[in-house]
Amino acid sequence: MAQYKNSEHMVQANAAAFDKEWLPGQVVVNAGIYRCKACGDEIVVDKGAATPQSHHNHSILGPVVWKLLVFAQKHPPRS
Ligand SMILES: [Zn+2]
Repeated sequence: MAQYKNSEHMVQANAAAFDKEWLPGQVVVNAGIYRCKACGDEIVVDKGAATPQSHHNHSILGPVVWKLLVFAQKHPPRS
């Protein structure tokens, strides 16, 4: 389970990006922490990088499917 200390730097959001499922080897849109839907394993994927082709296997739980857990956000421009 992802952990953090300073909640003032985190915000709960209902973005559609959290609902998309990513198969191994797919290029993601958001940099962030991705969680395996089947076993809960968590990884970091850079923006524009692919989820790993063969990170881990589980025969009983089914295929590895990644879902975005936390995404990193560029600091908004200051006005
Ligand atoms: Zn897994």
